[in-house]
Amino acid sequence: MRIADVRTHVLEARLAMPFSWSFDRTEVRGACIVEIVCEDGTVGWGECFGPPRLNAAVVHAFRPLLLGADALATERIWQTLYSQFRDQGQKGLVVTALSGVDVALWDIRGKRFGAPVHRLMGGPLRTGVAAYATGTYRRDAGDPLDYITAEVAGYAREGFGAVKLKIGFGLQEDIALIRAVRETIGPQVGLMLDANHGYDAVDAVALGRAVAPLDIGWLEEPVAPEDLGSYEEVRRGQPIPVAGGECEFTRWGFREVLARRAMDIIQPDTCAAGGLSECKKIADMANAFGVRYLPHVWGTGIGLAAALHLLAVLPHHPPRHKPREPLLELDRSEHPFRQAVLKKPIEHVSGVVQVPDGPGLGIDVDRAALERFAAR
Ligand code: CA
Repeated sequence: MRIADVRTHVLEARLAMPFSWSFDRTEVRGACIVEIVCEDGTVGWGECFGPPRLNAAVVHAFRPLLLGADALATERIWQTLYSQFRDQGQKGLVVTALSGVDVALWDIRGKRFGAPVHRLMGGPLRTGVAAYATGTYRRDAGDPLDYITAEVAGYAREGFGAVKLKIGFGLQEDIALIRAVRETIGPQVGLMLDANHGYDAVDAVALGRAVAPLDIGWLEEPVAPEDLGSYEEVRRGQPIPVAGGECEFTRWGFREVLARRAMDIIQPDTCAAGGLSECKKIADMANAFGVRYLPHVWGTGIGLAAALHLLAVLPHHPPRHKPREPLLELDRSEHPFRQAVLKKPIEHVSGVVQVPDGPGLGIDVDRAALERFAAR
């Protein structure tokens, strides 16, 4: 299983309705898809989270180190690529690009052995995962109290057991919206908050104290990702569990988070934090520290499939007769090619998504869609 070629597909599509979160606004969705081809013709697919063109540039820098390598030697390849760029690349784009390569290599391994990735990783511990709906982004016009309450009501009707609300726009505005959303979905549907690091510790503590009686599942990215001291303050200062980690990388990055107990729930992105190989290690570390692990997911169906295979092998936490099962983040915001890249889309049924059980990632990538959405 020698690697014969490494390709990237940079995809892009304009949105019908641009949307915003606490610190940014977008008019497009993009993706960097990694395709690794072996000498025998076997193809593996992966995805890198983050700026598509920059990810593609790093994958191309990896290419000479990958050509001719044994595609099954995922640990050796991971260490080779990481070591080569370690001095300048311990976090960020080097690791997101490495993640896409690692996911593609796991897809190849599964196809080689005719088994789904989660079986080769020792699972499954579960074959389906309950999903929560991610959405509630801001539009350019309209009253969020109207269109966001309508949006979450739709998720509840679809059967989602929980929804995540975007906040980080200012304390009073956020608190009013959180109250309105809780009133709309009622007490039975879970509600989580995601500030996209739109607060400092003082504001985040004030917000947490104000809305804790509304039964909030977690407060995500309350403060800047590199500021673990503020994370610790938010954890200590208010009662809602604190989540984060979509901007953290590798076992070494999460070692700090876990050792300082800066978060109650870590959320590595499988396509960013180091791929399936690294995220399994991070998950086992989190288990040893007694910290929950719920992957961040925000890509195409390829990244979603990778996350599902990891979810299938996350250790039970805590150990008991009826363990608390992990949740899948299912992005419901507009994404013209999220499902189009797959010949058979991965969808939820009444808020539950089945883990793909075909060889490798268990997906069939639609090359016509890669062509149709190729960035010009
Ligand atoms: Ca988030």
